[in-house]
Amino acid sequence: MLSYRHGYHAGNYADVLKHSMLLQVLKSMQKKDKPYVYIDTHAGAGAYSLNDEFAQKTGEYLDGVAKLWEANNLPTALADYVEAVKIFNGEFDQLTVYPGSPSFVDAELRPKDRMVLHELHGTDHELLEAYFDQDKQVRVIKGDGLQGLIVAVPPPERRGVILIDPSYEIKSDYIDVAHAIIKAHKRFATGVFMLWYPVVRREQTEAMLNLLKNSGIKKQLRIEQAISADSDEFGMTAAGLWIINPPWQTDELAQAALDYLAPILGHADGSVTVKWEVGE
Ligand code: SAM
Repeated sequence: MLSYRHGYHAGNYADVLKHSMLLQVLKSMQKKDKPYVYIDTHAGAGAYSLNDEFAQKTGEYLDGVAKLWEANNLPTALADYVEAVKIFNGEFDQLTVYPGSPSFVDAELRPKDRMVLHELHGTDHELLEAYFDQDKQVRVIKGDGLQGLIVAVPPPERRGVILIDPSYEIKSDYIDVAHAIIKAHKRFATGVFMLWYPVVRREQTEAMLNLLKNSGIKKQLRIEQAISADSDEFGMTAAGLWIINPPWQTDELAQAALDYLAPILGHADGSVTVKWEVGE
């Protein structure tokens, strides 16, 4: 019997964007027969309970994945995403558990592909390890994901998707993340790097993104949903993905998804952005 981590934030609007686009990137990678590696620097516990008291208390998934559960006119990225969450929830068609990024990827991985997961913290790491016990395609590493990333690239396959999804609990995380990506990109310039970021204080987020933007790295795409305008109050007002080397049509898929989500998950002063910050 698998145990699930408490889902305080699982399935919220930030997860909808992150996981729906992750799925599309993987599907694009699979258009070629060649194997690839998926590297998750901050993998989490793998799966989250939505019907325990913690998820019920925050109720964040109610303003995220739950709002899409009954919809039947979803754009591609959201339709594939909801289908994946439904399959994960099994035959009862009720939203009771939410897959973390490793579980979304696990459902997509072909026999020739690999997954490398980093998780620093004890409880999450134990759950993740139990989840992928005996799975020879998956390596679960207990340790710092940014250091692990440098070790893991370039992968022997020379094709890879890297999700960098830190908790941003420490102020220095923002800058450390940017430096780690720049270093990893020097070793593996063709990798698809997907950085998830929150906007709590706009200048803090932009300082990180500016480091990437001014690094000389080409092909950098911003995909962002602000559920409300930037604010000096405490709390996350926006979440985004910053993708280096996004597969073809990622921008179009993202725009269609965000245009759909804006009125459903966003407030009146919210906005969405899909923008090439650095081109070819
Ligand atoms: N990627 C996951 C998903 O989409 O389901 C969610 C990850 S959650 C936002 C961030 C995770 O990073 C937490 O489980 C936390 O324990 C872990 N973490 C924090 N600092 C870390 C570090 N330096 N290296 C690896 N993992 C870390």
